[in-house]
Amino acid sequence: MKKIAVLTSGGDAPGMNAAIRAVVRKAIYEGLEVVGIKQGYQGILERNFEAMTLGAVGDIIQRGGTKLYSARFPQFKEDAVQAEAISILREEGIDGLIVIGGDGSYRGAMSLTEKGFPCVGVPGTIDNDIPGTEYTIGFDTALNTVMYSIDKIRDTATSHENSFIVEVMGRDAGDIAVWAGVAAGAETVVIPEVDFDIDMVISRLQRSADRGKKHSIIIVAEGVMSGHTLANLLKEKAGIETRVSVLGHMQRGGSPTARDRVLASRFGARAVELLLEGKAGVAVGIRNHNLVDYDLPEAYESKHQADVSLYTLSEQLSI
Ligand code: ADP
Repeated sequence: MKKIAVLTSGGDAPGMNAAIRAVVRKAIYEGLEVVGIKQGYQGILERNFEAMTLGAVGDIIQRGGTKLYSARFPQFKEDAVQAEAISILREEGIDGLIVIGGDGSYRGAMSLTEKGFPCVGVPGTIDNDIPGTEYTIGFDTALNTVMYSIDKIRDTATSHENSFIVEVMGRDAGDIAVWAGVAAGAETVVIPEVDFDIDMVISRLQRSADRGKKHSIIIVAEGVMSGHTLANLLKEKAGIETRVSVLGHMQRGGSPTARDRVLASRFGARAVELLLEGKAGVAVGIRNHNLVDYDLPEAYESKHQADVSLYTLSEQLSI
C-alpha cells in the first residue's frame, strides 16, 4: 500500500477534522501518500481530490465541521456508480480508503470492499448510534453543547417559574437525551428506547409540583416526537403549560471537546494501521477504553440501543 484516501460522509460531527488530521499525519508518518476526497462519495465521481500534506491538516484539530465537506449522495447505492468510483480511485493510484461517517457511509465502504477496493470505517456522528463502538466522534461535544444549553434554559426556567421542553437530536437513538438528562438533571427524559407514556410524564411533573417545584426540564429526543407535539399533549391531557426549546443544528457544531479530539486521533491513526495490516471491510471502535475493530456489517445489521440504565438513573435522581 503506497497511497490512501480519506473522506467524510453523511452528517458532519465535531471531531471529524481531528480524525482527518490523524489519518493524514499517521499515513505520512508511515511513509504513505494521502489524498483528501471532498464531499463524500460524490467527490470520488467528481474527482474532487486534494493531495494532503502535513501542513494541509494544520490548525484544524480544534475546528468543528469537516474540512473535506460532506455530502449525501444516494446514487452511491448503485453498483455501476460504485464500480466507476473504484476505477477512478485506481486511476489515481489510490490503494485504500478511510471513510469517516455513520452507518450509511459504512454500507458504501462495505460495497467498495466487496468489489475489491479495501475500505476502513471510522465512526463519526453526534448521535452515538453505531453498534460495535461505545462512543462515536462528535457525541461528547454535542452532549456538552446540550448540557450547557440546558443549564442556561434552567436559569430562565427558575427565574420565571416556567417548565421547559428541550428537543434534542436523536432520530433512532436516545443517547444525547439520556446522557444530557443525567448531566443536566432533567426531571423527565423521553427516548426511543423506552415506550412513551404520557401519563407517566404527567405524573412525574405533578409529583414535582406537589413537592413545591415550580419549574421542570423535560428532554425529548426528536425521534420520539417533536417538543411542540409533547407540549400540546401535556396541555390537552393535563392543562400543563410548557415552553419549548428546539436546540437543532447547533448540536452539530462547535469546537470538539478534548475527549472527541483524542478519540478521533486514536480512531484515525488506527484506521491507517488497519489498512497497512491488510484489513478491509472493518470499522474501528472503542470498548472498555480499548480500540477494537470489527466487520462493517456488524455496525449496520444490528441496532444500537442507548444505555437504558442511565434512563433509570435519571429518573431515580429526579424524584
Ligand atoms: P451516515 O453515514 O451518517 O449514516 P447517510 O445514511 O446519509 O449518513 O449516508 C451517507 C452516504 O453514504 C450517502 O449519501 C451515500 O452516498 C452513502 N450510502 C448510504 N447508504 C448506502 C448504501 N446502502 N450503499 C452504498 N452507499 C450508501
